[in-house]
Amino acid sequence: MDSNNDTQEITCKRCQDLNLKEFNKAGHKSLNVTLGEVRLGALNRCIGCKLLANAVAHYSSRWAHLGLGEVNQVTITLDTLLSSLRFRVSIRWPSENGEESQIYLQILAENNGDIPFDGFDIAHPPASSPASSNCLACIKDWLDSCDADHEDCKPDALSPFQKPRRLLRLEKGEVDPVVTLVDAQGIDSTYTALSHCWGSTNIPKTTSMCVDQYMLEGLPFSILTKTFRDAIDVTLRLQIQYIWIDSLCIVQDDRQDWMNECPKMGNIYGGAYLVIAATVAEEGALGFYTDRPPFYRFRFETSNGFCVRAVSVGYHGPLSFSTSRSQWGLDCSSGI
Ligand SMILES: [Zn+2]
Ligand SMILES: [Zn+2]
Repeated sequence: MDSNNDTQEITCKRCQDLNLKEFNKAGHKSLNVTLGEVRLGALNRCIGCKLLANAVAHYSSRWAHLGLGEVNQVTITLDTLLSSLRFRVSIRWPSENGEESQIYLQILAENNGDIPFDGFDIAHPPASSPASSNCLACIKDWLDSCDADHEDCKPDALSPFQKPRRLLRLEKGEVDPVVTLVDAQGIDSTYTALSHCWGSTNIPKTTSMCVDQYMLEGLPFSILTKTFRDAIDVTLRLQIQYIWIDSLCIVQDDRQDWMNECPKMGNIYGGAYLVIAATVAEEGALGFYTDRPPFYRFRFETSNGFCVRAVSVGYHGPLSFSTSRSQWGLDCSSGI
């Protein structure tokens, strides 16, 4: 499949149409090709097809059950991620039991010298551990540019009627953080808000039985799920003192409290400095500090000796968010 190194690359018609700069300006645009077409393009020395073929080849064991004549059942969709110039590639193929399988890849250039096309952006691959200091530094970097340049990212200014009734105050403890439920009305500090899937397991809730205890003595750290602990950890590491978590900041068996707080949910999230969306955790017990799959680095060489190291990140199957709104704690009526 390698092209001859003494032959100039071309850009096939399909890859020309892909023009990455236009891609970005035009917003969303996508391209569907089959694996056979990509392989043929690579054989015909198209640089774009070669990049795709190299990236996809790493995963070929997954469709090894397909015969040579069946490679066109492997389809590849290429599109960009929102406003960035990162390639997102999704590969679909029929698995052995006939069901459709899917992987998402991102092709990222690691260094400036790795850019194969005009307009292909540098995107450093994310740290494999979300709890790492590298990852935190990246979050801080993003937040700094939000603070400095993004008017739309600023937290909404909330009127007293829009503010959450309660927040969780976080303090570093000797071993575990000290978490105390506090009345938020007198507080004018930034806070994070957790968006999370309640899942089927029992998550800790504030009820009328324990609300006074949580406000006076704090919450026993041992009752908190992994997702809550991870969110508290991120918040503290960002040096933010308060977090809003629905199940703990609304008294779950107090109908009046629900009636008061539910209509404000949009404001509460809008007023947060940062919303932590624990999308990877289907259950509170799982947390979101789960390591990402390892990155696969492949060499990508062009005829002028230009060597590209690109990175693809494999996601196994579609992101499996729960489809039930109530499991996400977004549906007010399900809270009681
Ligand atoms: Zn091509
Ligand atoms: Zn921003």
